[in-house]
Amino acid sequence: MITVFSGGTGTPKLLQGMVEIIDPADVTVIVNTLENEYFSGVYVAADLDTVMYTLAGMINQETWYGIEGDTFVTHDTLKRMGCPEILRIGDEDRGIKIQKTILMNKHPLSEAVEIQKERLGIKSKILPMSDQDSNLTIQTTEGKMDFHQFLVEKQGRPHVLDINYEQVDSAPGVIEAIKNSEMVLVGPSNPITSIGPIISTKGVMKALKNAYVVAISPIIGDRPVSGPAAKFMAALGYEVSCLGVARIYQDFLDKFVIDNIDAHYKDIIEKLITEVVVTQTKMNNQQDKVKLARMIFG
Ligand code: GDP
Repeated sequence: MITVFSGGTGTPKLLQGMVEIIDPADVTVIVNTLENEYFSGVYVAADLDTVMYTLAGMINQETWYGIEGDTFVTHDTLKRMGCPEILRIGDEDRGIKIQKTILMNKHPLSEAVEIQKERLGIKSKILPMSDQDSNLTIQTTEGKMDFHQFLVEKQGRPHVLDINYEQVDSAPGVIEAIKNSEMVLVGPSNPITSIGPIISTKGVMKALKNAYVVAISPIIGDRPVSGPAAKFMAALGYEVSCLGVARIYQDFLDKFVIDNIDAHYKDIIEKLITEVVVTQTKMNNQQDKVKLARMIFG
């Protein structure tokens, strides 16, 4: 069994490569839930849905959000009727989100996801990091805001001063998955707002210290491939580089994979982490994804 920690962009790309070379049934994905929130009456678990849609082969690979070829009739109608519709949710995607919202009247999130992934024919296990909601507060020079206000309304522009979220209980199966895995793979996702919350979930750090843990740097050179990781790392006092990521993960990591262009960091990171591997970590196409997965799983 391999357990993968995932956010919503970089790690799903790697999952597409992984499932070509290892049996999807041997993969458990533990997914960040920090940004989950209700929008226009539906529960939006953005990273969970991205992982589900990726493993079901229906993800929109341009945005890494929503379903490929989806239509937006409901979104346009709601806008015309004066609803704020902060997120542009497609019709098919909204259908799945409505089902999740209905299921959550009777089930915790982890059970709702289990029911949905079975329906979508997904063989891997998908676990939310927690069944509890947790609130993220981003302190900026323009005041306090939540993740979607920062990223969608303000388009990630404000200068970030600090980031806070509460520690939550891990969902059923999370600790067991880590304990029963031959490898825990921390995918290339935002180390502060995607991987950080998973690691801080109760019991996870302790379980990680007894596991064989490999991570892939989401930072290549001095910037992330996408998303706000640079602003968040800088706000918490980390250098925006694979070295900064290594410092975040150093307490539990056995092996760290960094990009070719960061080869000069190898020696210094080896003082923090036992094994450092240098390779191409930018995944531009399916071939790159499979190649990176092969490098990790042999
Ligand atoms: P967010 O978009 O920052 O909220 O966070 P996600 O957890 O969804 O992941 C985005 C992270 O994935 C960013 O930090 C990117 O640098 C990383 N990422 C995206 N594509 C790639 C890639 O091809 N290679 C690597 N190494 N990282 C990637």
